[in-house]
Amino acid sequence: MAIKLSFESCVRTRSVSSECAKCIDSCAYDALSLVQNSVRINLDGCVECGACDGACPTGAIESFSFENFIDGFLSSSSTLLDCKKDAVCCAAFSADELFCLAALSKKDIYVELGYCDGCKSGALKETIEDRIKEANALCDYYGVNQKLFAKYTTTFEEGKEGSVELSKRSLFGLFTKDGVKKSAEKLKSDEEFMSGKEATIDYALLKTKKLPFKRELFLKIAEKLEPSGKEWSGGLSFATDKYIDETCDNCSLCYSLCPSEALSVTQMKNAILFSPHLCLRCALCEDVCAKKSISSLPTFELSTFKTKNKKVLIKFKARVCESCGSVFSGEGSECPRCSAESEDARELLGL
Ligand code: SF4
Ligand code: SF4
Repeated sequence: MAIKLSFESCVRTRSVSSECAKCIDSCAYDALSLVQNSVRINLDGCVECGACDGACPTGAIESFSFENFIDGFLSSSSTLLDCKKDAVCCAAFSADELFCLAALSKKDIYVELGYCDGCKSGALKETIEDRIKEANALCDYYGVNQKLFAKYTTTFEEGKEGSVELSKRSLFGLFTKDGVKKSAEKLKSDEEFMSGKEATIDYALLKTKKLPFKRELFLKIAEKLEPSGKEWSGGLSFATDKYIDETCDNCSLCYSLCPSEALSVTQMKNAILFSPHLCLRCALCEDVCAKKSISSLPTFELSTFKTKNKKVLIKFKARVCESCGSVFSGEGSECPRCSAESEDARELLGL
């Protein structure tokens, strides 16, 4: 499956202040880049390993359908994740996806990393090992008996198909109906990539807030599991808890732009609320905050995936603007917009 990028789900499209480059940093083939702050895929360089998919917090990049994969994997007798068999690099699986696989599986799962040392994406071996560790720690916390094990038994040479870019599946793929379609998409994408043309964006979709499938699945699983009683003292690679200090002026950027509704505001706009179980760790809220008032906490309370609690991060005094009647927080008798307009009017009239 050709890599798909949904611009509307990418935090770079939501704000020019976003510094997210997780997909670009994870690509060993330099197939991803930024054109006018927008992520572009050069399908000519892309080998469809899916490492960018495993790194993207919001689900903006899709290299394979995890939903279909999990169905197929669970109904098969397989116990092995293997880049030569599964058509994507094991780095295409994020830690939460690995946990979901283990929690839904009736057997231990092995992750073949023997090929990594001869592969260009091999630099991600440690990342994959860390994700396996994190998924296993989650299994311990939730009392899941199955575990994931890294396996180093097949070497790159024994894998025979060679490196990802020379694999047979890529070659055969060119002669299928899908392959022809993909080539057409590649040409279009190359044209866009080379010209740096504005990407097509559905602006209505930019305002929507949604969770990627992997988080919806994770929440469903966590809801059903009874924690084993083991302590959890650290953080998570795919969610963070937040803190807002008193420098916050309620500019509204963080909760307006948050892609998942983890951050929200009360109707009176007098408090910012946070639901840690919805946080995708995209860091957009921190990137857009000019005063750096919002930050991540080093620990995460896992019980929140079950309780789904919303907490108050900061409260403001609510006032009614005496010019427009809207509710605002802050000092003075007018909301920031009316106050700016009044200021302009005074300047124009030389008052
Ligand atoms: S949100 Fe995903 S696609 Fe966008 S820059 Fe971050 S990792 Fe890349
Ligand atoms: S709270 Fe911040 S880090 Fe979490 S999903 Fe929203 S914008 Fe991203």
